[in-house]
Amino acid sequence: MKFCSECAKPISLLVPEGDNRQRYTCLHCDIIHYQNPRIIAGTLPTYQGQVLLCKRAIEPRKGYWTLPAGFMENGETTEEGALRETLEEANARILNPHLYTMIAVPHISQVHIFFHGELADLNFSSGPESLEVQLFDEADIPWKELAFPTISTTLRRYFTDRQHTNNKDQNTPFPTHVFDIPEKNKLKL
Ligand SMILES: [Zn+2]
Repeated sequence: MKFCSECAKPISLLVPEGDNRQRYTCLHCDIIHYQNPRIIAGTLPTYQGQVLLCKRAIEPRKGYWTLPAGFMENGETTEEGALRETLEEANARILNPHLYTMIAVPHISQVHIFFHGELADLNFSSGPESLEVQLFDEADIPWKELAFPTISTTLRRYFTDRQHTNNKDQNTPFPTHVFDIPEKNKLKL
């Protein structure tokens, strides 16, 4: 950030009084331009054990496979954002979504949130941000062509959870997992 979005004058990076870290501050109109993490909301849609993935039509990671997800919009809940992205990228609807993974990615100041749910039907198709949308068996997951670490981690947890709940009621949701990537890179406060 170089210029104030209010008055267009050059901006200073300094620690405001009473704060403990540097902020982009406009000394002309006295505004502090706070920057905070962004939330990416998405889903892990499954159908009889298969997982729905989208091949990205846009950068970053164009041509790589991802779960349907994107930046939350103002005024929506995390679940609404996740379902909207799933509809936009894959024309897919899921039943009974429940929070599955919440992953902080501090080195890029993002939080990724995925809801798991079964597909309502098989009438999915590529939205404008996807080249292809496809169901995959566990054995066919393109592990080396996945777009982001949060995608591969969420998929790995899902296949592990499924193994451990094979004989249980199909309607019982999997446990929610909350963790960070990289997992060892804890914030030192
Ligand atoms: Zn200003």
